[in-house]
Amino acid sequence: MERLQKVMAHAGVASRRSAEKMITAGHVKVNGKTVTELGTKVSKHDHILVDEMPIQTEMPVYILMNKPRQVVSTVSDDKHRKTVIDLLDDEIKERVYPVGRLDYDTTGLLLLTNDGALANQLTHPKYEVDKSYVAKVQGIPTNDELKRLRKGVSIDGKQTSPARTRLMSSDEGRKTAIVSITIHEGKNHQIKKMLQAVGHPVMKLKRETYAFLTLKGVQPGDFRELNPEEVKELK
Ligand code: URA
Repeated sequence: MERLQKVMAHAGVASRRSAEKMITAGHVKVNGKTVTELGTKVSKHDHILVDEMPIQTEMPVYILMNKPRQVVSTVSDDKHRKTVIDLLDDEIKERVYPVGRLDYDTTGLLLLTNDGALANQLTHPKYEVDKSYVAKVQGIPTNDELKRLRKGVSIDGKQTSPARTRLMSSDEGRKTAIVSITIHEGKNHQIKKMLQAVGHPVMKLKRETYAFLTLKGVQPGDFRELNPEEVKELK
């Protein structure tokens, strides 16, 4: 166990003196509670937030998961549903959290890490990390509807950035289609809302890629750690 200000200084947040000021001014939370006591001791397993930003107190880990359906992509869940953290076995001791979200019923590629700086960078629209999805939709999108998706549609009063999209197959009998769509934003339920906006509600959704990463070799419910080259490339 170490004093909180020392841990903050080691993590490169601030000098020990400034860390002390941040603590007494109420900028620091340990395991969800604001701490203003300078004597507080913490271990590397404690979760420390400075102005709501996690600080790095343990070795960074980067996990690529193939999220199955009916799992929440949060660290805990009020409704006691299974979370992506429950899927990590005892091998992963670090407190990782998901980079962005996939809906409860969405499957596919989800990154988890304890590297707050990288997580922030990847979820910032400015960095334009491409995410590609395959959706099964009701009805068969016309060329015109696909063009509207490419240009950007209005969801929740905001225009989406241009997307790449392609009709992969269609089933005339069942009146369904498979559409691939690539975006770099991460608005809430973005793909479902975009497809809904052009009249094609999503029946199934899977994220297939995230930047250059794919699900190759990772079965639903499984995960693997990224290798150092992949981490470097993501940064
Ligand atoms: N868009 C959605 O609508 N849902 C997801 O889970 C991911 C992107």
